[in-house]
Amino acid sequence: MNGRILIADDLVTDRIALKARLALARYDVSLARSLHEVLAQVKDALPDVILLDIGFPDGGIAACRRLRDNPALGDVPIVIYGARDDRDARIAALGAGADEVLAGLPGEVELSALLRSILRDKALRGDLLRRRDILGVSGFAEGETGFDPRVKAMIVTPNAQGAVVWRRTLSERLGAEVSAAPMEVALETRPGAVPDAFVIVETPAQPGASLRLVSELRARPSSREAVILYQMAGPSSQTADLALDFGANAIVPGPFDADELALRLARLTSRKREVDRVRALLDDRLDEALRDPLTGIHNRRYADAYLDRLCRAHRSSVSGPFAVLLLDLDHFKGVNDRFGHVAGDHVLRAVAERLLGELRDQDMVARVGGEEFLVVLPNADADGARVMAERLRQSVNEESIALGGGQSIRISVSVGVAVSHSGAGDCQSVYERADRALYASKAGGRNLVTFFRDRDAA
Ligand code: GH3
Ligand code: MG
Ligand code: MG
Repeated sequence: MNGRILIADDLVTDRIALKARLALARYDVSLARSLHEVLAQVKDALPDVILLDIGFPDGGIAACRRLRDNPALGDVPIVIYGARDDRDARIAALGAGADEVLAGLPGEVELSALLRSILRDKALRGDLLRRRDILGVSGFAEGETGFDPRVKAMIVTPNAQGAVVWRRTLSERLGAEVSAAPMEVALETRPGAVPDAFVIVETPAQPGASLRLVSELRARPSSREAVILYQMAGPSSQTADLALDFGANAIVPGPFDADELALRLARLTSRKREVDRVRALLDDRLDEALRDPLTGIHNRRYADAYLDRLCRAHRSSVSGPFAVLLLDLDHFKGVNDRFGHVAGDHVLRAVAERLLGELRDQDMVARVGGEEFLVVLPNADADGARVMAERLRQSVNEESIALGGGQSIRISVSVGVAVSHSGAGDCQSVYERADRALYASKAGGRNLVTFFRDRDAA
C-alpha cells in the first residue's frame, strides 16, 4: 500500500468519488462521517494524511482546529478540500492548521501529485524521527541550542529589483529575512548561505525554466533540504502538478499574497528547522560514537570499519596498496605509577596531537587501546610507510612532554608496520602482521620501527 488516507466527509457521494480517485494509486483508504468517527479511527492507527471536507458537520475549519489540538495528530498532514476558490478561504484553512487547501473536489491528477509530495516528505521526516527515538534522545525543543537564527527566505524571480514590495511585506508577515534574486543567483548561493526557503515565481513565458529550477535546487546537496514554494503567476497553471513532482513542497495560486505565503512558509520552515535539528543531533551522536573522548581522535570502532572499507576497495582494485602502523607507548605503566593517572591521560593527549601533526589529510589515526594507536596510510608503499613510521616515532620521542608543576617526561613509542599485498585474501591479516612487527620492536629494545617481513611469519 502507498499510504493510509482518511477521508472525512459527511456526503456519501463525495466520499465515494474521492475514494475512486485514490483507488488507482493503491492507497489504503478509510472513511469517516463525523469528527467523532475521525477521532475513534485515529485511536487505532494514525493515517498518513487526512482529507477533510470544508463542509464537514459543524464546519471543516473548526474540525481542522480540533484535530490540530489533538497531540497525537499534531504531525498528521491535513488537506482541506471543497473550499471556495479564493484567498480568504485558503487563509482561513491554513490559519486553522491545514497543510493544504483545495478548491472544490480535487481531480485525480491534482490529488495524486499532492499526496505523493506530502507522503514523500513525511517518509523522510518519519525516518529521521525514528532514528532519533532509537537513540533515545528527545530534547531538541525549539531553541534548545539557545540560538535559532532568523528564518531566511528568497523570492526567485527574473524581476528581482521589482520585488521590493513583495520582499518587504513577506518579511513583515513572516518575521524573516527575505531576499529576492534571479534564477542564476538562486543556484549559486554558497553552501553556508542557502536560505531556509525558496519562493519560485513561475514565469509563464518559460514554464520549463521554473520547473528545472525546482528540480535543480532539490538535487543540489546545499539546497536539498530547503523548503520550495512554487508561486503560480495566476489562479491556474499548466505546470503546477509537475512542480510538486519535481520537488516543490507546495504550489501557491497567484497573484502573490504575503499573508498566504507567510502562513505556508511559517509551517513548512518550522518543520524544516526541526528536521535540521534532528539531523545535526544525529550527526553529533554518530560522531561521538566514533571518537575517543580522551584524545578526540577516532576510536577502535571507527578504525575497524575504516580498515574494512579500505580492504574491500583494495580487493576490488579500486585503491592501491596501503600501510598499517601500530604504535604502543613504551613503559607507559611507569608514567602512571610515577606521575599519576591524570598525567598519564595528558601524555596520551599530547601523543595523539603529535601524531596528528605529522599525518596528511588522507591518513587515518585512531586510539585502539589504552596506550595503543593505529595509523593507516592509504595508497602508501613500503618506502612511504617506512618514512612516515620513522617520523612518527621521532615526533613522539624528540621532545619531552611538560606535565605542569615544572615536571616533564620524555617518552617513546614502539612501531610495527605492515603493507598490504596485491594478493587476494591478504587484507584482513595486515593488522595482525603489523601487530607481530610491533612485538618485534618491543623485543628489540623499544623506541624502534619494525617492518613485518614474510619470513617472520613462519
Ligand atoms: P610496554 O613498553 O611493554 O608497552 O609497557 P607498558 O607499561 O606500556 O605496557 P602495559 O600494557 O603493561 O601497560 C599499559 C598501561 O597503560 C597500563 C594502564 O594503566 C595504562 N593505561 C591504559 N589506558 C589508559 C588511560 O586511558 N589513561 C592512562 N593514564 N593510562 C592508561
Ligand atoms: Mg599496550
Ligand atoms: Mg605500552
